[in-house]
Amino acid sequence: MGAVLYVVATAIGNLADISSRARQVLAAVDLIACEDTRDSGRLLGALGIKSELIAYHDHNEQVRVERLLAALQAGRSIALISDAGTPLINDPGYVLVRAARAAAIPVVPIPGPCALIAALSAAGLPSDRFLFVGFPPRGHSERRAWLTGLASEPGTLICYESARRAAATLADVAAVLGPRPAVLARELTKRFETFLSDEAGALAARIAADPEQQLGEVVLLIGGDRRSAGARAAAEEDRILALLAAELPLKQAVALTARITGGNRNRLYQTALAARTPTVND
Ligand code: SAM
Repeated sequence: MGAVLYVVATAIGNLADISSRARQVLAAVDLIACEDTRDSGRLLGALGIKSELIAYHDHNEQVRVERLLAALQAGRSIALISDAGTPLINDPGYVLVRAARAAAIPVVPIPGPCALIAALSAAGLPSDRFLFVGFPPRGHSERRAWLTGLASEPGTLICYESARRAAATLADVAAVLGPRPAVLARELTKRFETFLSDEAGALAARIAADPEQQLGEVVLLIGGDRRSAGARAAAEEDRILALLAAELPLKQAVALTARITGGNRNRLYQTALAARTPTVND
């Protein structure tokens, strides 16, 4: 096969999802780089594939890249796989792919299952635009700050999450982003595959009340900010104005907000006046 790095998607639970092209490539390459040689050994055993395995994971990525690159440069073919789904999607591989490309070694994707795409394809939320945001921070306050940074994203938000933390994360979604449609996609392609849809806060309560929904592997999807660009910009102007007006005289707060946001001074002034608590001098 020559010096080629294949990036091969396998399965996210159901082995029947592995494509015939993926099988052919895995059977033909000189070396398979995987996260866990025991896990992947079982997978390849089930497929009747005996190619040599080498561990490639977050902890040895830098060191292993040199060895894998040397093998590629010596003319060997390598398939990169991960424990589940598509390599590099919240999995190691980026460093190797970048190094192979920098060394002018062909990198060929063998596409297939990916949990976020499977979840989005069946969740019933807008799919024209979406943002994959990895795993949310585990700590409550870090997670709320992280969500604040995503508040004005218009696309559907997609994250991976531990089933145990899904209810807490959705409760934070409702608290920080307000009422948003949300979907829990659990155990995709497996026996207990489940989709639950509801408003984020209501969905959090349903999951918290049902221990079964707190098991397995989970993708969370949250409806994006569907306001128009103009409405989003006005809301951001108002937020900055309110912060400045709490500290500065009205005129100065309006002038500064207009300079920061490029917003219309008149509109800002009217907004500030309407929001101001009347004083005895009014
Ligand atoms: N590379 C993988 C992919 O292509 O989707 C993702 C790897 S990431 C380290 C593992 C996370 O993906 C899990 O914690 C879970 O959030 C999600 N995941 C993987 N398989 C899943 C499945 N069958 N059902 C739901 N979520 C899954």
